[in-house]
Formats: sequence, C-alpha cells, structure tokens
Amino acid sequence: MATKVVKFGGSSLADAKQIQKAAAIIKADPQRRYVVPSAPGKRFSKDIKVTDMLYTCYDLAEQGLDFSDALQAIRERYNDIITGLGMTFSLDDEFEEIAANFKKRAGKDYAASRGEYLNGKVIAAYLGFPFVDAAEVIFFQPDGSLNDEKTESVLRERLSTLEHAVVPGFYGCGADGYVKTFSRGGSDVTGSIVAGAVKASLYENWTDVSGCLVTDPRIVKNPEVIHTITYMELRELAYMGASVLHEDAIFPVRKAGIPINIRNTNRPEDDGTMIVEST
Ligand code: ASP
Repeated sequence: MATKVVKFGGSSLADAKQIQKAAAIIKADPQRRYVVPSAPGKRFSKDIKVTDMLYTCYDLAEQGLDFSDALQAIRERYNDIITGLGMTFSLDDEFEEIAANFKKRAGKDYAASRGEYLNGKVIAAYLGFPFVDAAEVIFFQPDGSLNDEKTESVLRERLSTLEHAVVPGFYGCGADGYVKTFSRGGSDVTGSIVAGAVKASLYENWTDVSGCLVTDPRIVKNPEVIHTITYMELRELAYMGASVLHEDAIFPVRKAGIPINIRNTNRPEDDGTMIVEST
C-alpha cells in the first residue's frame, strides 16, 4: 500500500472542532499513515498561537519571574481541546514536567517545542495512533543543520515497525542532546523529512487555504488556485511573497521524488495545489 504523510498546520488544529476535521481527513484514507501536527494556532485573528504563548511564558521563567499564570493559560488551551474532543485524557504529568524544566531553564527551543509535543500527544490519543517523540528520531548537527543521514535511518527504522504514528513537528534533538527547533513554521520541514524517510508516495500539507494562488489575495479578490506548479516555480513565487511552505521543506521530498499537495482542512473537497518536479 502506498503511504502518505500528512502535516496539519496550527490553524487546522487550533481547537477541538478543527482537530475533528483533521481526524476525519486522516481516517478517510488508509494511506494517510503518518501524521505531523503543528501546535494549536490562532482560532480567530486576534488570538495567540500556543507557540508564542510558550515563548512568553519561558521568558518569564528565564527572568526568574512567576510563570504559573502564563503556563496555566496554555494548559487551558489544551484542556479545552481535550474536553471538546470528549476525551478523558490528562496532560497533568506533562505540565508538571514542563514547569520543572522551565524552572531548570531547559532552553527556549525546549519551551517552544512543547506546543507540538503536547498537541501530538492529544492527537495520537484521539486517533488511537502511537506517539513518536521527534526528539528521538530527528537529529541536528553541531552547526545547527539537520543531521540528515542519522535522521533518515533512525526515522525509517522506527516507523517501519509502526502502521501509523503521530510525529510532532518543529523540533528534534540537538547535537548537545537538548531539544532544538527549526525556524518558525518548521513543522512543514518535519513533515517533509518524515515523507522522505518512509519514501511516501505523497506529502500532504493541510492548511487553511486551498493551495497556491495566482495572485496576492490582498490585491486581487478571489484569485484562482494554481493546480500544479513545479518546485522551481514555487521558489520564484516564494520570492514574490507567496509563501505557503517553509523553504526548507522542499529539499527532503524533492530529493526523494515525492510531490507535495497543499490542501485546505476547511475545504477537503478542493484538490489544492500539487507541487511536482516537472509538468
Ligand atoms: N508552531 C511553530 C510555529 O508557530 C511551528 C509550525 O507551526 O510549523 O512557528
């Protein structure tokens, strides 16, 4: 059976309702075996992403200030999700551990990564899929770049034993053994790495738009969606500000000859944009 890797962005997982949509998409196709979630994003335009809440919270911890209210606000985001999904699932142990690690100054990257880590735990439990901690399968070099050889072999070996898995996006293990993140928007990169490692037939990147648009929606109303685009054309578009994907997300799949499909979680009936080697 062909394997698809599906990455869901923060707005696709911002609350219980969005997670239910994502779960329905995953369950609708048995080929969607490996799931890479972002942290919960914005539920409305003035909302704050969990990743940003974590940065703020950790800032307080680093300054030796009381961060309990800030951490409690994050906890409430997850509790709302858990109750909204009708689950009896507790993140009490995880939050205790996070608070202790914040006190020990576990690092800014560790702090930010907890958004994906916790969301991955919730989504894995909701789907009934095993959870694979990205810190055990994604590795960085001392210079901060990806250790792609080690990552590919460990990831492939680990996933070869699992029919399904949830691998949280955005982070891995630094050369010093501490959690390290990619740059912002880096869950796209994780999805691409996972797709490359398992030699997926397709990397589906689920977001809140129905693909790449021919023009900037801020300038032209209801621009048309591009059906198919090459990796190279996408790069040119990205220079013009039409960024739908983290730029480092191209290489791992392109190298493995895997197309990317940009899809809309809120309109799964739309085909989205296919990003391919050549048309
Ligand atoms: N949660 C991280 C961010 O806000 C990574 C991601 O969503 O891809 O940048």
